[in-house]
Amino acid sequence: MDNVIGVSGSKIAYFSMEIGLKNEMPTYSGGLGILAGDTIKASADLGLPLIGVTLLNKKGYFMQKLDDAGRQTEHQHDWTPSNYMQLLPYKVTVKIQGRDVRIQAWIYNHFSLTDKKVPVIFLDTDIEENNPEDRRITYSLYGGDRKYRLKQEIVLGIGGVRMLNSLGCSINKYHMNEGHSSLLATELLRQNNMDALYVKDHCVFTTHTPIESGHDTFPYDIVLELMNDCVDLEKLKKYGGQHELNMTLLGLNLSNHINGVAKRHREISEKMFPGYKFNAITNGIHSYTWVCPYFRELYDKYLPGWANEPELLVRVRSIPDNEIWDAHQLAKKDLLDYVNSKCGTNMDPDVLTIGFARRITEYKRPTFIFSELKRLRKVNEAGKIQLIFAGKAHPRDIQGKQFIERIFQYKEELKGEIEIAYLENYGMDLAMKIVPGVDIWLNNPKTPLEASGTSGMKAAHNGVVNFSVLDGWWLEGCVEGVTGYAIGPMPHVNKSPEEIEMIELDDLYNKLEYIMIPKYYHRKDEWMCLMNNSIEMIAYYFNSHRMMHRYVTEAYL
Ligand SMILES: *Cc1c(COP(=O)(O)O)cnc(C)c1O
Repeated sequence: MDNVIGVSGSKIAYFSMEIGLKNEMPTYSGGLGILAGDTIKASADLGLPLIGVTLLNKKGYFMQKLDDAGRQTEHQHDWTPSNYMQLLPYKVTVKIQGRDVRIQAWIYNHFSLTDKKVPVIFLDTDIEENNPEDRRITYSLYGGDRKYRLKQEIVLGIGGVRMLNSLGCSINKYHMNEGHSSLLATELLRQNNMDALYVKDHCVFTTHTPIESGHDTFPYDIVLELMNDCVDLEKLKKYGGQHELNMTLLGLNLSNHINGVAKRHREISEKMFPGYKFNAITNGIHSYTWVCPYFRELYDKYLPGWANEPELLVRVRSIPDNEIWDAHQLAKKDLLDYVNSKCGTNMDPDVLTIGFARRITEYKRPTFIFSELKRLRKVNEAGKIQLIFAGKAHPRDIQGKQFIERIFQYKEELKGEIEIAYLENYGMDLAMKIVPGVDIWLNNPKTPLEASGTSGMKAAHNGVVNFSVLDGWWLEGCVEGVTGYAIGPMPHVNKSPEEIEMIELDDLYNKLEYIMIPKYYHRKDEWMCLMNNSIEMIAYYFNSHRMMHRYVTEAYL
C-alpha cells in the first residue's frame, strides 16, 4: 500500500482549513485557500518533501446565483471526491462531546510539470459508524456555528496529526496556515510528554489576519463541552489565553517560527500581539497556474524554463512589445466575449477595462469606485472605461450581499454611459478569465486590513496594470508610475480616516483621468512600459517559488 500512498517520505506537514487546487474541487473560499494550493504546487515544483492536510468539504463552499437585481442565493456545490482522489484504508478517532468520531482520509496527488509529487490529505468524517451530526463535520467550509467550527478544528488539528501518524509519516515541521489548525500543537504536546520546547521546535505558524475580531476564538464553556475528557484545560489556557481560547495565540505560543504574510502585516501583527517577534514572508502566487495560455506561449518561446524558474520573467524585455500586446488583446477578447454572452453587455476590446473580483465583504470596499458618480463620469469623458466585477459574499454576510445589489443599481444608473458587468460564481476558473483579460486591476480595501492580497500578483503575471491602495504586498510591489499606481497615502500618515478616504478618492479619479487614460489611449509606448514592468519587476519576485524558498530556509530548516 505504501507504494500507492507514497507519503512516508513527507517531512513537512502543511495544515490549512482550505486548499484550492483546482476549480472542480470546491474546497476553498478565497485567497487563503488559493495561497495554500499555490504552496502545494510550488512545493511540488521544488521537490520539497511536503504533505498537505485539510478537510474534505464534501458539500463544497457554495454556488452563487444572482437575480436581475443582484440578489445572491446560495446553492449547494456537490462534487465527487472519488473523481479526483483515492480513499485510504486508514481511520483514526478523536473524541468530541464524549463520543468517538471516526475520521477517514482521501489522498490527492498533485504532480508538477516535471512529474514531482506532493500529496494532500483530505479528512472526512462522513462514515457510517459516526452519528449523523458528526458525519456532517467535514461538509461545509466556514458553515455552521461556533461549535461546528470547533469540531472542524478538532478534526483538522488533532485528527490530522493522528492520520499522519497512522500513515507512517515522520514529520519534522508542522506548518499551521492560519489558526484553524492550531489544535495540532496540543496533540503534539500530548504525544510528547507535554514538552513545549519539543513542540515549538516542530511548529511553524503563519497568521493572515490583521483584524482583532478576525482571529478564531472560542469561549471555554464550548471548549469544555466539546473536548471535556481530552483536554488539559490548564495547559490550554496557558498557551491559548486565559479568558477564551484564541487559536492564533495558541499557534504563536507553540511555534518557534511565526510569520506574517507581508512586511506591513508583520508590523501590524507585532502591534496586535506585543512581545512576539514575527518574521515576514511575503506571499507569492504559482506562476504557471496563474499565467493565461497566451502568455504561457510567449514565455515558453522567449523565456524557456520560466515555469520552474519564474525569476526568468525578469528578462521580459526580450519579448517584442507587439507580441505582448497581442497576447493581452487575445485574453481580453476571450473575457469580453464571455462577459457579453453572459451579461448581454456590449463590451469593446478597444475600451480601457477595469477589473475588480474577490470575496465581497465590507473591508474590500467593492463599491468604492462609485463613491462620486460625477467624478466617475468625468473620468469616462476623458476616455471611455468599462468595468467588470465578480465575487461571492459569505452566506451570512448580509452587508456583503448588499454590496452586490448596489453594484447592480449603479449598473442601471450608468446605463448608456459606462458598460458594467457582474459575473456570477467567482472561483479559480473565472479568476483566470477576468484577471488576464482586463487592462487595470483595481484593489481598494480599507487599510491596513489586507494582510497581503494576491490577485494583483496574478494581474502582473499577465501584464495587467495594478491600481491599488498601499496595503499588504502592494507596499512592496508598487513603484509609482513604474510598476503601477497607488491609491491613497503611505501608511503612518498623520491623518484621520475621513481625510485618508478623501485622498484615496482623489487618487482614484485623478490618476485614472489625468494619467492612466491618457497613457492608455494616447501614449501606448508608456502603457506598454507599465505592462512590461509589471512582469519584469513584480511577477519575477511575487511568486510562490520565491516564497517557498524563504519558508524552507527561514522556517523549515
Ligand atoms: C487569487 C484569488 C483570491 C484572492 O484575491 P485577493 O484580491 O487577493 O483577495 C480570491 N479568490 C480567488 C478565486 C482567487 O483566485
